[in-house]
Amino acid sequence: MSGRPAPAIVILGNGSLATARRIQQRYPDALIYGLAGRVDGADRSYQEFGATLRELYQQDTPIIALCAAGIVIRTLAPLLLEKGAEPPVLAVAEDGSAVVPLLGGLGGVNRLAREIAAALEVSPAITTSGELRFGTCLLNPPSGYALGDLELGKRFVSDLLSGETVRVEGAAPWLADAQLPQDLQARLAIHVGHAARQADANELLIYPRNVLVALTAGSAQAIRAALHEANIAVQSLACLLADESDMANPTLREAALELDVPLRFNPRSGSVLELGRSAVSAPLSEIAVNDSLAIVVAAEPLDPLLIGRPRGRLAVIGLGPGAAELMVPAVKAELARANDVLGYETYVRMAGPFRADQVLHCTDNREEMQRARHAFELAAQGRSVVVVSSGDPGVFAMAAAVLEALHESSDTHWHNVELEMLPGVSASLATAAQAGAPLGHDFCVMSLSDNLKPWSIIEKRLDLAAQADLALAFYNPISRSRPWQLGRALEIVAQHRTAETPVVLGRDIGRPGQTLRVTTLGQLTPDQVDMRTMVLIGSSTTCVFPRAGGGEWVYTPRWYGDKPGS
Ligand code: SAH
Repeated sequence: MSGRPAPAIVILGNGSLATARRIQQRYPDALIYGLAGRVDGADRSYQEFGATLRELYQQDTPIIALCAAGIVIRTLAPLLLEKGAEPPVLAVAEDGSAVVPLLGGLGGVNRLAREIAAALEVSPAITTSGELRFGTCLLNPPSGYALGDLELGKRFVSDLLSGETVRVEGAAPWLADAQLPQDLQARLAIHVGHAARQADANELLIYPRNVLVALTAGSAQAIRAALHEANIAVQSLACLLADESDMANPTLREAALELDVPLRFNPRSGSVLELGRSAVSAPLSEIAVNDSLAIVVAAEPLDPLLIGRPRGRLAVIGLGPGAAELMVPAVKAELARANDVLGYETYVRMAGPFRADQVLHCTDNREEMQRARHAFELAAQGRSVVVVSSGDPGVFAMAAAVLEALHESSDTHWHNVELEMLPGVSASLATAAQAGAPLGHDFCVMSLSDNLKPWSIIEKRLDLAAQADLALAFYNPISRSRPWQLGRALEIVAQHRTAETPVVLGRDIGRPGQTLRVTTLGQLTPDQVDMRTMVLIGSSTTCVFPRAGGGEWVYTPRWYGDKPGS
């Protein structure tokens, strides 16, 4: 229910592959990550161990590292003080002889350790005393149940460890196999129930998540008040359910966010109470609080993933120029949550690795509108969809096509999709940064492709921009089907700029084999440029000077006209 991704099995050499495969048999969705150049036949290859491990950790991916525990600890240490994801992390000996749970005690690391150890036929190195004694972590109830209070819980477990006995009140099926020192007369009690209750010092409160609130309007505060009135613990709230027509309602979204529960949707035909009933097969009790809010209590914990459907999400993301370090964290997080990924095959590959459960839809670069519509169709079903662009999605890429598809559509399901654009480092900026600051003053960005606009308009804009003494950034400068256009463009620019004007050519910037060249307008010829090149042309103030270690710095000063202060 946590929606945590399948584990990543990370290995450094071929020697670990056999053990990794045995673990993978236990978790068929897990991917084996092998160090590039050292491991043959892994599912994914990585370049750098540290960066890969940290990234997996931050994406809340359980990590099974086949290497020394110390290496894993050192690698993740910088992240441990940060709030955020804390997935289970284990070190497993290369030969499978030891399984050591390291992090994620409340995320089920000991359970994983037991399962892996069983698969490898060894004993797990469990060091958590409660876990050892009782065979379960009382503070980590299974999904469908929520612990009342962690600090009180820790004290409770230490009382138990000191030798006390315990009673179980309410239904706790997962404790049936635990080795608890049970006694009906015990002072300590584990209490399982959805009623609001003040925990006393002798109690461990565990709440079944079996309560659903159906609503057409209402804030988190109103929901809390209604639950309070009904004497129901807010911790037992499993999900909010609203009518499909309210999918884009921001108040409902905020309420769900604040209460930290999923918001799901079903079509409503009658009252809000009937809407609530539509999701719970045999309710224990139900309360129509008012016309816009009803509470339904189920006999068993509810799995929100099986109730109605979520609001679909469509994110149009920019990967940046290529290098993983230049991808913004929001984009990485979006890729991790995606169900479907759409885009031109080269970019989809660049956005990987993906998990086995993620569906890739690779299409030709030219089918932009079709891809945009397909994305909405998937998102309207409640899926989380990502459309990938290189660089920034708003710069000669998919964001505008996606909005155009939405603008043209009258389908409310499409308009109800949660749509977001996530920016990336555009090729002109990535190239400029490597050269220095050629775009340090006013500049003009143009695509030289006349596939989607008449050539005459390109000539006009070039002429005016060159006349205005703007630095110029050319995307799509040339291609096999557009061989002469760049030459013509340079002629127009040369009418307004000297032959000494600095020019930067960045090819495959941020990708393997990248090249950066600094030349001049007089020396630039179209054969030095291809469709993977970014062309930056300086203004009249752009300067070049040598850098220590070779090459040049190119920059356009911030000032224009007379230098301030001189
Ligand atoms: N949305 C992209 C641009 C797509 S247009 C962005 O914001 O970067 C494609 C053009 O961008 C290519 O023809 C090339 O001119 C330029 N380009 C894209 N990636 C590049 C890279 N890594 N290095 C140099 N130029 C690149």
